[in-house]
Amino acid sequence: MFIGHYGVALAAKKIEPKLSLGWLFAASQFVDILWTMFVFAGIEHVEIEPGLMEASPMNFVSYPYTHSLLMSVVWGVLVYALVYALPIFKALRGTKAALIMGAVTLSHWFLDLPVHRPDMPLAFGDSTKVGFGLWNNMAATIALEVLLLLGGLWIYRRATKPDGKRGKYGISILCAVLIAVFTMTTVSQQPPPSGKAMAVTGFFMYLIICGFAAWLDTRRVAVKTE
Ligand SMILES: [Zn+2]
Repeated sequence: MFIGHYGVALAAKKIEPKLSLGWLFAASQFVDILWTMFVFAGIEHVEIEPGLMEASPMNFVSYPYTHSLLMSVVWGVLVYALVYALPIFKALRGTKAALIMGAVTLSHWFLDLPVHRPDMPLAFGDSTKVGFGLWNNMAATIALEVLLLLGGLWIYRRATKPDGKRGKYGISILCAVLIAVFTMTTVSQQPPPSGKAMAVTGFFMYLIICGFAAWLDTRRVAVKTE
C-alpha cells in the first residue's frame, strides 16, 4: 500500500494536534522507509516481475525485518520509545504523541495486509505468510487507497483550521498530487529498472513527501473541541 498509509497519519492528527503531520507521515511509512534501505543494502530482497499482479509487479522475495507482524510490533515500540525519549520531541512530553506515533507505525502492517499477496510473514523463517491479494484487482486497489487518503484528509480538515493560504489549500493539493501520481503509476504499470533503483527513488520520495507534509502542516491550527 502507498497513499492509504497517509490517510491514517492525517486522521491521527485529530487525536494529538501538537504532533507535526510530517512526523505522522514518517511513522505511517516507517517500515517502508526502512525497507528501501534494507533492499539497497541487500538485507531484504524484491524482484520486479511485470504482470505479476494487476496493480503491482513487485515480488517480495524476503522482507521479514520490515514486513513481519513480529518486527512491526518491535518497530512500533521503538518509535514509541524514540518519541518518548529523544530531546527533539521534548515539547510533546505529557501528550499522547509517543503512543500515537507507535500505533501509526504498527498500522502500516495492517494496511499492507489487504493488498499484498500472502507473502507477509508473521515472524521469521518458515512462519505463516499472510496477505489478501487486493493487488490482483487494479480498480479495487486504487479505490481502497484513494478512499483511505480522502477519509484521513476529511478528518484532518475538520480537526484543524487554516492559518493563511498555504494552510487553506496546501495539504489538499498535496493529497491531490499523491492521488494523481499514485493512480498514474498504478495504471501504467511501468516497471522500475530494478528493485534497488526503486528502493533509492522510493527513499527520497518518502522523505520529500514527509517534508511537504511537515511544511504545509505548520499553517494548520487545532480546532478546539469542547
Ligand atoms: Zn509496506
